[in-house]
This record gives sequence, C-alpha cells and structure tokens, in this order.
Amino acid sequence: MQQMYDMVIIGGGPGGIGAAVEAKVLGINSILMIEKGDNHSQTIRKFYKDNKRVDKNYKGQEIELHGNVDFTDGTKESTLNYFDSLLDHDEIDTAFNSEVESVTKVDNEFQIVTTKAGYRAKNVIVAIGTMGKPNKPDYILPISLKERINFNLDKCSQGEKLLLVGGGNSAVEYAIELSKTNNVTLNYRKDTFSRLNDINLKLIHEYNGQEKLRLRLGMDIVSVENENGLVKVNFTDGYYTIYDRVVYAIGGTTPVDFLRKCGITLDAEGKPEFDENFETKMQGLYLAGDIAVKSGGSIAIALNHAYHIISHMLKNKKN
Ligand SMILES: Cc1cc2nc3c(=O)[nH]c(=O)nc-3n(C[C@H](O)[C@H](O)[C@H](O)COP(=O)(O)OP(=O)(O)OC[C@H]3O[C@@H](n4cnc5c(N)ncnc54)[C@H](O)[C@@H]3O)c2cc1C
Repeated sequence: MQQMYDMVIIGGGPGGIGAAVEAKVLGINSILMIEKGDNHSQTIRKFYKDNKRVDKNYKGQEIELHGNVDFTDGTKESTLNYFDSLLDHDEIDTAFNSEVESVTKVDNEFQIVTTKAGYRAKNVIVAIGTMGKPNKPDYILPISLKERINFNLDKCSQGEKLLLVGGGNSAVEYAIELSKTNNVTLNYRKDTFSRLNDINLKLIHEYNGQEKLRLRLGMDIVSVENENGLVKVNFTDGYYTIYDRVVYAIGGTTPVDFLRKCGITLDAEGKPEFDENFETKMQGLYLAGDIAVKSGGSIAIALNHAYHIISHMLKNKKN
C-alpha cells in the first residue's frame, strides 16, 4: 500500500476527468485518477464513431454547466483533445491500464486494489460509466459468432452486409456512417423512433428514402444462429436474413458485481444507492456520471456531478 491520496477517482471518462479538474481548481491537490484502458475516455474512444458530432445538450437535455470545465458542442476528436488539454494543464496524476477490482474501507481510510497495485485514499469517486458492460439481448448469441456479433464498431470493415440493432441516437449514427461503405439494415423493435435528436431523425428517413440503407422497424429478433460462419437472424415476422456482421447498440448496464465488491448498497432495481450529494452509504465514497443516473446520462451531466461532489467534499472538510 502506497501514499495516502486525498482523493482517488476510479474511471477516466467525463465524470472522472471532471472530478479531477474540479479538485485541482478548488484546491484538492493530492489526487489520482485510475483508468482501466490505455488512455482516458474509453466510452468516447470505443463507442463513438470517428468524426461523430458530440452534443452538449445530448438527447435534447438542456444542461447548464455549473463547474470549471467549459465543455461545448464538438466532435469525438475535439472532445478528446479538450480532455487531453485539461489533464495536461492541471497535471493530473493518472494510472492507466489499471482496472480497479475492489474498494474497502478500513477505519477511516479507503484501500483500492487494482490489477497492478494498491492505493490508499481519504475519499473515493466511482465514475466507471456503464459501457464497460454493454446491454445484450435476452436470446443466446452463439460463441462461434463472437467475432461477427459486436457491441461497438471496432471490428467493422467495408463492403459487409450489416445489421444494426437499436433505436437510439447511437444505433442510428452507426447505421448512417456504416451505410457509406456497407450494405446496412437497421432493426428497431418499435414502429417509430421516439428518442432521436432532430438531425438524426431527418437523416435516417432521408437515407431510407434514398435507399442508402434499409429500415426494419416494428420487429424484434427471435434468435440468432451460425449459418456457415455467418449470422442468420430470425425475425418475429417469420423471415430470416443472413448477415456478415451484427452490431448491437442498445446501451449499457450498471456493473452491479463491481459495485457490490466496493460495498455499495443497491436498491430493489439493482441501482446503486446514494444521497443528494452523490455520496453512498459509506461516507467518503461517491458515485459520478452514468453510474449515478437512472437513465439517459451525458457528458454535461457527468461534469455537473463531479463539480457537486467536490464542492460537497470541501464543505465537509471545512465543517
Ligand atoms: C455511442 C454514444 C454516443 C454518445 N453521444 C453523446 C453526445 O453526443 N453527448 C453527450 O453528452 N453524451 C453522449 N453519450 C453519453 C456519454 O458518452 C456518457 O454519458 C458519458 O461518457 C458518461 O461519462 P462517465 O464518466 O460516467 O462514464 P464513461 O464515459 O463510460 O467512462 C467510464 C470510464 O471508466 C473506466 N472504467 C470502467 N470500469 C473501470 C474499473 N473497474 N477500473 C478503472 N477504470 C474503469 C472505463 O474504461 C471508462 O474510461 C454517448 C454515449 C454513447 C455510447
């Protein structure tokens, strides 16, 4: 066990970066941000397509930023560059390629165990998001199709017959982008899109109208099978289609096992319990970002959580 930090932040996404920046600006200097990926912002890197537009008011949620991070509309690349510059400017101490396995409170100190080392801290902020555990469908996905059934665009190439599954902005943006170099069908179980921003709604109907992609709406998938190494998808209308690749973009799930290992209590819906200051039942252990919203998180929401938590920590310190 090493040096005692005032604050350890678990997760280097917007919530974690926001917490680190607010801590430095507001006067908490001894901090460490631990990230399991080889760089910060793994959700943005892995799940946003290249050149994706990044909206501050994501999914139409008007958010006024309260803290010291001046995040504005941009692209995937400009957002990552901005976060790089924040971490550099404030000289945030980071441990990349380190996955936190557990957090334990012994007397008044937290002990944080990662795949590589152990750390000690007075306060801990868990900002691990939910995309480390993407949602999966209820039916079985054959293991033999592991390479062809994906949850982000990492393995997609060109000239493939692709099925995108989902009805949110991510699924639609993936479908539009991939249709430029692939034969794309977008499947959504409902008849109409109800959660899209105006631009995506307009684009998806335009692309469909111009037959740049195909929409298969109001239809669910019953099962998925391996057909000579390709993906045979059986739909509720009784028809099937064979695809080179299927990509699910149906959100993420709260990583309950990890939260339990950290001693965080869960409510009847399996969501973590915390108070109005995002503090869990364990004093000094906070949750920020997607992990602390019931549904529909965003970068701006995560940044506001971070500001609120640091302000609360400082107020506690003074009292
Ligand atoms: C495709 C897509 C498009 C989106 N577009 C927008 C948009 O335009 N505008 C917008 O505001 N929002 C958008 N969002 C939502 C936004 O990305 C999230 O709300 C935001 O990233 C949440 O930040 P976070 O810090 O809570 O979690 P995340 O960004 O998920 O970051 C969590 C970090 O924690 C790390 N981590 C996880 N477990 C551990 C562990 N055990 N130990 C160490 N590190 C760990 C992860 O590797 C990750 O880097 C989009 C989401 C998706 C999926």
